[in-house]
Amino acid sequence: MTPGSGIKMSASADIIIIGGGAAGCSAALQLSLRGKKTLVLERSMLGSGSTGRAAGLGAQLRENPDETSLLMRGIEVVKDIERQVEKEIFTKTGSLHVASDAERAEELRSFVRMGKAIGFEIDLVDEDFARRRLPCMRADDLIEYCYCPTDGHFEPSELLGAYIELARSAGATFLTNSPVTKLLVQGGAIKGVSTPAGDHHAPIVINAAGPWSYLLAGLVNTTMATAAMGHAYLVTRPLPDVLIATTDAALRDRKNRIYSRPEAGGLLVGTYEELPTEYDMEELPADFQMSEMNAPRDSLQVATLIDCASRRFPFIDGRTPMTVTSGIMTFTPDGHALCGPVRELEGLYHCTGFNGRGVFQSTSVGILLADLICDGIFGPGVEHLCADRFDDDPGLKNREDIKARCRERYSGHYSINEEKT
Ligand SMILES: Cc1cc2nc3c(=O)[nH]c(=O)nc-3n(C[C@H](O)[C@H](O)[C@H](O)COP(=O)(O)OP(=O)(O)OC[C@H]3O[C@@H](n4cnc5c(N)ncnc54)[C@H](O)[C@@H]3O)c2cc1C
Repeated sequence: MTPGSGIKMSASADIIIIGGGAAGCSAALQLSLRGKKTLVLERSMLGSGSTGRAAGLGAQLRENPDETSLLMRGIEVVKDIERQVEKEIFTKTGSLHVASDAERAEELRSFVRMGKAIGFEIDLVDEDFARRRLPCMRADDLIEYCYCPTDGHFEPSELLGAYIELARSAGATFLTNSPVTKLLVQGGAIKGVSTPAGDHHAPIVINAAGPWSYLLAGLVNTTMATAAMGHAYLVTRPLPDVLIATTDAALRDRKNRIYSRPEAGGLLVGTYEELPTEYDMEELPADFQMSEMNAPRDSLQVATLIDCASRRFPFIDGRTPMTVTSGIMTFTPDGHALCGPVRELEGLYHCTGFNGRGVFQSTSVGILLADLICDGIFGPGVEHLCADRFDDDPGLKNREDIKARCRERYSGHYSINEEKT
């Protein structure tokens, strides 16, 4: 197509990926490395969705040992990427889990048993150790601690940039400002997609559109069990009286619903609040930018965040100099991502629904998809991620039911017996 000619383009690829966030770009990298001609179509700028808002924490331990192994493999993927781009993307700080009552203490002990059983580095530690690893935390009410030395955090934009750089070198194409408006279907199989600039053809299309993914699924009259939930974290400015080292441990205080990590001399603290803000993506304007979201300081969301943070970090209150970042996460009813083929439509795959940990999960999920698409191998041990697992659930047939279950999952994020994050 020549610009301004009015003729719409029609191009082809082996695989089209809708969405240039962590999931789409990781998949583009792994598929390009396997020799697939891969095209990523992004409605706005690369990384302009949830990925650009992420706090970047990465915890490897999960209830499901196979998923823990996948995430451990993800760390290896990142180490390899770091070598190739000659940049540090993952900061290994270690992570502490703390408990202030008997029930939560037993929860921590069970984490330790579970981790050790699969060879994951985790151990109970004493109060002195915990205080040394995170001196700014209040610890007088704590009765149990465990520590995972190999956890840490990513710089999401660095990880994304590395996926893109390496994928491009391997032949992938990225088109920005290219919203997919239609999925092209013929004879029960996907044939490509339409954008305002024209059509693109491919026998395989991956829906990696983050919180928007369910709208893409809706274009071919399929239901996707995801919902879009607001989430926010604060970052304090460096404070003269509170020393926070870049090597201080990350924290999960599940009873207080918070996580934290060091950030540029300050502290980043996020909360999974009981009453989340929900979004209907179809109601947002077509030119909506997540980077323009802001949570007012007097909102319930920010008040809750500050309240939860101050219980573990008493130096934080409403007057503490801080920034608040808010964005939208994609939740599923059971807390696991959706990854794999769609039952009703040959060639359509979903790769979405990361429940607040998609930056970290993207490291391994790209490989999963590449194994599946290129070699027909899915797993073993990743059945819990199958994209069609909710198809036969009679309680998830309409948006209201789906939203209710995803809301429950968000508010129960740090409940006892929920997936460890
Ligand atoms: C405040 C906040 C904190 C978070 N903290 C963490 C954390 O500590 N650790 C962690 O691992 N994760 C964290 N997350 C979650 C993480 O950001 C997401 O799980 C992850 O970024 C999901 O990546 P994605 O590629 O699936 O989605 P996205 O990054 O949203 O990418 C989807 C892309 O698809 C594009 N798109 C949508 N519709 C179309 C269309 N029709 N055509 C073309 N393109 C389209 C969007 O513009 C977007 O760029 C956080 C999220 C938020 C909001």
